[in-house]
Amino acid sequence: MPWSLVIHGGAGSIERHRLTPEQDAGVRAALALALDRGGAILSAGGSALDAVEAAVQVLEDDPHFNAGRGAAFGRDGTIELDAAIMDGHHRAAGAAAGLTTTRSPVALARRVMEASPHVLLSGTGAESFAREQGLEAVDPAWFATPERRRQLDELLARARDANGADAFDVDMKYGTVGAVACDAAGHLAAATSTGGVTGKRWGRIGDSPLIGAGTFADDRACAVSCTGSGEFFIRVGVAHEIAARIRLAGDSPQAAAEAVMAEVKALGGTGGVIVTAPGGEAVWTFTTPGMYRARATAAGLREVAVYGDE
Ligand code: ASP
Repeated sequence: MPWSLVIHGGAGSIERHRLTPEQDAGVRAALALALDRGGAILSAGGSALDAVEAAVQVLEDDPHFNAGRGAAFGRDGTIELDAAIMDGHHRAAGAAAGLTTTRSPVALARRVMEASPHVLLSGTGAESFAREQGLEAVDPAWFATPERRRQLDELLARARDANGADAFDVDMKYGTVGAVACDAAGHLAAATSTGGVTGKRWGRIGDSPLIGAGTFADDRACAVSCTGSGEFFIRVGVAHEIAARIRLAGDSPQAAAEAVMAEVKALGGTGGVIVTAPGGEAVWTFTTPGMYRARATAAGLREVAVYGDE
């Protein structure tokens, strides 16, 4: 069976003139490292589940991405993290939302799946479960970076100019991280991790930790991880909808992904998705100017890309 791995580091207004050469190089190096970590597991015969968790953890620790260290700030200046993981073989899933101290939200999502009877835990309860499971906790300051703080300040200034109207980071310049894989046994897995959107309030939770919205895997169809304006992805049920099109309508993974992203766009949302399928397909599509993304397959494909045209 051919293995395949696709990762993303967020979709948004990612254009050449907006990124410094250092940012461009840093993002590409991190994507390549995440691809190598996940690819090494798959090429050695390891599971899709281990591969997506390992790839996402590399990006969570890298400050270039809005997940783990480098996550977006909420309006009150705090950082709340969300993540999910799903195993396409058994359709087992785990997720956590509103985390403030767990270093690796995706690792906690996996513990929720494997060591609790639940699928989605949130807030202080999720944090206590993480401690019971022995997962590393960090001071919330560990997640904070000056660049994200600057983005929040810019957004708050814009909101003041608009007479205090609520504002979100509509540009979605840097996003969420995710990975999808198909292993040599033909099993699929998907994982997503995020700080959500800059300026979020009131315990807002996006699509990323919601199974069927931002994250989904089913060996009968595909594995999907999303990035973009989460409210729209939730309303469309993007990840499950892509799987349903493949399973029930016989769409190819590429056609299904494009059709569902067109629905998101029609409602006013933007973003991108990555998809793997049991035949080893490794595809992506996005409606934003760019998406941090990379893919590798057993057949020797290896690609790291940032902008619309590369
Ligand atoms: N989809 C994420 C959320 O809405 C944000 C992103 O992908 O950038 O929380």
